[in-house]
This record gives sequence, structure tokens and C-alpha cells, in this order.
Amino acid sequence: LWGQILDTLRTSYSDEIYEDLFEPLSSVKKVSGGYIYVLAPSEYVKDRIKRLYLTRINSLAESLYKKETIKFKFVLASEMVGEEALVGPEKNLDKKYRTGNLIATLSFDNFVVGKSNRFAFQMALKVADQPGIVANPFYIFGDVGLGKTHLMQAIGNYILDNDINQKVLYIKASDFIEELADQIKKEKMDQFNEKYRDLDVLLIDDIQMLAGAPKTQMEFFRLFDLLSQQNKQIVITSDKPASELKNIMSRLSSRFEQGLVVDIGIPDLEHRVEILRKKLSTEAPDVMDINPQVLEFIASYFTTNVRELEGALKRVLFYCVTNNIDITVDTAAEALDTLIKTRKKTEALTENNYDRIQSVVSDYYSISVHDLIGKRRNAKFTLPRHIAMYLIKNKYNIAYQTIGALFGGRDHSTVLAACEKIENDLKHNEQLKLAIDNILKKIDKPTN
Ligand code: ADP
Ligand code: MG
Repeated sequence: LWGQILDTLRTSYSDEIYEDLFEPLSSVKKVSGGYIYVLAPSEYVKDRIKRLYLTRINSLAESLYKKETIKFKFVLASEMVGEEALVGPEKNLDKKYRTGNLIATLSFDNFVVGKSNRFAFQMALKVADQPGIVANPFYIFGDVGLGKTHLMQAIGNYILDNDINQKVLYIKASDFIEELADQIKKEKMDQFNEKYRDLDVLLIDDIQMLAGAPKTQMEFFRLFDLLSQQNKQIVITSDKPASELKNIMSRLSSRFEQGLVVDIGIPDLEHRVEILRKKLSTEAPDVMDINPQVLEFIASYFTTNVRELEGALKRVLFYCVTNNIDITVDTAAEALDTLIKTRKKTEALTENNYDRIQSVVSDYYSISVHDLIGKRRNAKFTLPRHIAMYLIKNKYNIAYQTIGALFGGRDHSTVLAACEKIENDLKHNEQLKLAIDNILKKIDKPTN
């Protein structure tokens, strides 16, 4: 098996890396306690492998050897001396804990750290290093697609990498509800309790899903208490802070706040480019020499969701590979054309577009936006001001009051009067009609 893995590693990494790191790892020392021990020639090699390649090696082994979880441990000769102490007796683990719904590729080594997630990352690492001791529960919240599940899975994988005898279970809150309902119906609560109450680490994803499921909340509350009393690590993710969870029993949400709460925010441009670069290095190492501008181009369009960001990169790669063309900013733009267009359309509904109407109208009459929304009552300013109010009302049909707020806090009746005036004038003033048609054309024209 190790030979097979080495062969695969040889084809997926450069010769230098292979010769430096993997080639010296020729001998499997022993197989015990669920681990395969491989002798590392130096601390340096051991560390690098553990930090950068262990996850990849473990998942390769799993895919080659479909049976069950296989874990490698890289050790120095000196560490093998007191080997029995190192390993401990093998526990007879139930197979359901072997994988614990963990995905090996969601690890700390391929989680890109930046300002938006640094604290969450550092704390997750601490929790994983000393489960049950540092922070319990550990509560991660943030918007969709920002890496909560990834971080939670990384904690589980790390704990198992350190000690394969830990009973780690990852479960989505929605699946937890279903499983519980199922077991109640089948009168198999004993099995359910046995499975969950015996855990060392419980990772429960998207806890906000428990809203409106009071029975499940009760059961989860019991489980939570039982596990935390024994210092078993509980990790929770959510799309909002515990205090804002709706329809969740307050004694549950207040428990969540007693642990450590971290949030993950939106990555900045530099961070997003780094995420793309990391993704390339694992998914398509042969195109790592891609022009950095391409990555910046993609990162500048996909700003709020890492999953979408990665999807965009995949799309560009797929497009260029299947059409056999170079990856450039232009071809990337082609590949993402429809995606970017649909995004533009949805953005067209945001309030930035009130700004847009104001700026187009000011441009058209060669006045500043400041004067457009200002107090000056010269006809040079009042006509464009009334037109802008009228256009916003017609296009978005928002309240006069709201429009007034966009124009320096004018009241309802001022805006209403302006809109009525323009409407009346339009009935006979051909010039005004023409001007408004032209302005509308400019507003509808995409910015770039
Ligand atoms: P969430 O659970 O917050 O909705 P996920 O953890 O599922 O988000 O992340 C969405 C995708 O983005 C996953 O493929 C994940 O691996 C990736 N991802 C998110 N954050 C990062 C990061 N900092 N570094 C690398 N990949 C990330
Ligand atoms: Mg998630």
C-alpha cells in the first residue's frame, strides 16, 4: 500500500519535493492501533509531512484502499524505542466512529488564513490540540460559504490524526433532527443514546436549523449537558451569534454563550487571491504559473462567498482546458461571462442604484451630486433634482419619505410635489420628455 501511495505522490508533486520529502520514507515500521507507522529520517521531514501532506496521504490511502479509515503516523527512529507506550492498547471501536462523517480534505493545512478568519482559525487549532479543555462549547458563526464547516471538519480531522481512538462525530443539525425522529418512531432511543452519549467529540453544524424543533432541542440539551459535564468537546456552527438565534430555547442558547464564540467574516481581496492560489496548487498544480492578474480578476468579482469564488475558478479552468486555450484575463472573462451578468442583474436591485440615478442625472446636467441633493433653489438645480426624484419613484416605487431621505432629508410632501410636477410637465413638454428618455438610456447602460 505504501508503495502505491509513493507512486501516486511521485506523479503529483515535482521531482524536488518528491526526492526531498517522500523518497526517504521507504520503510513502514509497523501497523498498530489503527495507524501505519512510517519512519521519517529527520525532524524536518516529519514536520513538513505532518503539516502539509498528511491529509493528502491519508485520503489517498482511503481512496486506494476503500475499506475503512487508514491513518498514517510519521515517526523518528528515536520515537519508536518506547513504541508500546506510544501506541497503547487497541480499542475495539465500533465502525460508526471510524470516519465520523469527516471529509479528510477539509483540514487545517488547506484552510487559508487572513484577517477575516485568523482568530477563529487560531482558536480552532487550540481546541483541536486540547479537546475539551480550551473552550467548551466552541461556537463558530458567520455567513454562508465562509468556511465554518471547513474549520469544524478540520478540528475533527486533526483530533483523529492525533489519536485515532477518539470517537468523533460530525453531524448537520438537520440530520440530527431526522435521526432523532426516526429513532423515536422505531423505539430505538437506546441505540441513539448509546451512539451520542459515548462520544468524545461532537461537531454539530448549522445549529440554527434546530429552530422550531422543540423536541430535538430538549434531547440535544440533555446530550449537551451530559457531554460537557465530562469535558467532551462540543463544536457548534451557526449563521448567527447565539444571542440572535430565533426559536431556540434560551437555556440552550445561553449555554452556547458560556463557551468561546468566534466569527468568520468576508475575506479581503488579497486573502481571496491567496485562497485561489491554494486551490490551484491542490487542484491543478500544472497551471500554477498562471498570470496573477487572472486570479485577481476572479477575486474581484466574487467577494462574499468562498464557495462561489472556488466555483468561478473551476469554471475558468474547465473552460480553458476543454477549449484548449491559454488562461488569461480575457479568456477568464469569457468563461465567467454569464455568471457575472446574472450577478449584475441582481445587484441592479440594490440601493446603490439610487446613487446611480443621482449621478447620471447630475452628469447629464453638469452639476455635482452634492448640489443635486443640496438646498440650493436655483432652477439649474431644482429641475434635475425633481427629475431624479421622479425617476427613483417610477423605477423603484419606494416611499416618498424614503426618497426624501436620499435627498438630504426632505419630507414626504416635497417629494410628492416634485414627482407630480414632472408627471404633469411631461404631458406637454417635448424637450423634457427627450431629456428623460436620454437619461433613462444612460441609467440602463451597464457601467463597463
Ligand atoms: P460554510 O460552512 O461557512 O457555509 P464552507 O466551510 O462549506 O462554508 O466553505 C465553502 C467552501 O469554501 C468549501 O469548499 C471550503 O473548503 C472553502 N473555504 C472556505 N474558507 C476557506 C479558506 N479560508 N481557505 C480555503 N478554503 C476555504
Ligand atoms: Mg456549512
